[in-house]
Amino acid sequence: MKKVFVSPTPWEAHHVRNILDADGIAARIHNENIRSAAGEIPSMECYPEVWVLDEAKVERAERLIADFQSQTSCVSGSGWTCERCHEAIGPQFTQCWNCGAERPL
Ligand SMILES: [Zn+2]
Repeated sequence: MKKVFVSPTPWEAHHVRNILDADGIAARIHNENIRSAAGEIPSMECYPEVWVLDEAKVERAERLIADFQSQTSCVSGSGWTCERCHEAIGPQFTQCWNCGAERPL
């Protein structure tokens, strides 16, 4: 296993995992449940991490992640918080990845 991505925001780690999954790369998220209930920013070592299980696919995974990051850097605006489950969602999403709720207007 190899760590390919670390993000301070859980939605981003999930999104990267989904991208890898869609490409047939098995990946796992570590640390996603280490978060303060009070909504404080966790320290760096508690950030969600995406690990690729098959090291032969790490290079491919890193390329997909680089593509993802170049896309999201073009997205303007800030993220939003799901009204139903209070998950932090990235600005490019119109739906909560966690519970499927629509973005509030
Ligand atoms: Zn939600």
